[in-house]
Amino acid sequence: MIGDPFKQAVPVLELIENAGFEAYFVGGSVRDHILGREISDVDIATSALPEELKEIFPKTNDVGIEHGTILVHYYGGHYEITTFRSEENYSDFRRPDKVSFIRSLKEDLQRRDFTMNAMAMDKDGNIIDPFAGKEAIKNKQIATVGNPDERFGEDALRMLRAVRFQSQLSFSIEKSTLESLAAQCHLLENIAVERKTVEFEKLLMGTGRREAVQLLSESGMIRFLPGLKEHADAVKRFSSQLTENFELIESWVLLVFELGLKDNEVEDFLRQWKLPVSKIKRINRVHSLLLNRLEKDWDMERVYKAGLEDAICAEIVYSSLQKISCSTDKIKGLHDRLPIKHRKELNVTGNDVMSWMDKPPGPWLRLILEEIERSVITGAVPNEKEKIKKWLSAFNQKSGKN
Ligand code: ATP
Ligand code: MG
Repeated sequence: MIGDPFKQAVPVLELIENAGFEAYFVGGSVRDHILGREISDVDIATSALPEELKEIFPKTNDVGIEHGTILVHYYGGHYEITTFRSEENYSDFRRPDKVSFIRSLKEDLQRRDFTMNAMAMDKDGNIIDPFAGKEAIKNKQIATVGNPDERFGEDALRMLRAVRFQSQLSFSIEKSTLESLAAQCHLLENIAVERKTVEFEKLLMGTGRREAVQLLSESGMIRFLPGLKEHADAVKRFSSQLTENFELIESWVLLVFELGLKDNEVEDFLRQWKLPVSKIKRINRVHSLLLNRLEKDWDMERVYKAGLEDAICAEIVYSSLQKISCSTDKIKGLHDRLPIKHRKELNVTGNDVMSWMDKPPGPWLRLILEEIERSVITGAVPNEKEKIKKWLSAFNQKSGKN
C-alpha cells in the first residue's frame, strides 16, 4: 500500500486524470518508497501541459515552467508537477539544447538518469518500471538508463549524482556505469561549481561516505572538484578518517586539515567551492581549534573562547584523527563550570572601569577588560562588580610597581 505523502497527493493525480490526462508519481519518491526509506517530497509527472495544469489548479507558481515544471498548491500541500518531456542534444554537456513536451510516460522515464530513478507509480500504487529499476534496487545497483557514456556525455552532473546516491543508499555502481565514470570524468569541467558542491555535500552526509570519497579518488573525478586536483593522497587520507558521526562542518574541517592548508589558504580553498561566508568562517574557526587541540588539551579559557559548539566540533575531528572514541564530557564539564559563558555576562562595563580609573577611553580599556574577563573565567575573581573593583585596584597597584 502507498504511504502518507502519496495518499495526500492522490487527489492531485485524480484531478489531472479527470481532466483527461495521465499523472504519476515519479523519481526519488518512488525509489525511496520501494526501498522503504522515508519520503520527503513527491514529484509528479503528467501528460498535461503547464497551461493545461493551470486550468485545473487555481493556485500555481511557475518555478521551472521553461522545463515544464510548475508548483501546484493544493489543500495546504504543494507539489512539483512536470510535463512529460524528452531532451535533445546536449552540446554543452550539462543542459539540453531543446526540451520537447511529449505525451508518453515511457519516453519521459527514459530521459531520467538511473534505472532506480526511472520508475513511475499510479494512484493505486501500481509501479511502471520499463527499465528494471526494481531489479536494480533489489541488487543495490546504480545503473544509467541506456549507455552510460552517452548519458554522462549529455549531462556530466549525473556522474556526481551516481556517487552521491552510492553514498546515500550504500549501493554499488554497475560495472559499465562505473567504467564510464573514469572515462568521462573530464566532462565535469563543464559543470557549475555550485551544483558540484550540492552533490559533494550530500555525498559527505551519506552512510557510504568513505567508499564514495574513495571512488571519487579512484575514478579520477576528484581532479575536477575545486582545489583537489593535485591532492589524491590527501583525499585518500580524508576518506579513511571520515566517520559516520561527522556533520558537514566536521567533514570540511577534516578535508582542510588533510590538505595541510595554511590559515590563509583555507579561505581560498573554501571560496572555490562557493560556500557561504558564514560557513567558511566557521570551518576556519574549527580548523584553528583543531590545530590548537593537537598541541594542547582543553582548559576553561580555551573552551570559553571557542564556544561550546565549535569546541565539540573540533574534538570530534580530533578524536577521529587520533583514532580514539570521542568523548565530549570533558568539554561540557569545563563549559558548565565557566562562571560566564559570554563577555556580555560580565558584571562590569567599560564605563564602570573608566569611572573607577578616572581615565578617558583608549586602547588601555580593552586590555583591562580582557584581563578582567580572563580573571573571571579562571575564577581569580568572582563576577561581582564590587569585588572586581577591589581586584582591579590591587591589580593596578601590583602592575604599577612592576
Ligand atoms: P533526492 O532524494 O535527493 O531528492 P531524487 O532522485 O528525487 O533524489 P531529484 O534531484 O529530486 O533527485 O530529481 C528527481 C528526479 O528527476 C530523479 O529521480 C530523476 O528521475 C530525475 N533527474 C534529476 N536530475 C537528473 C539529471 N541530471 N538527469 C536525468 N534525470 C534527472
Ligand atoms: Mg527529489
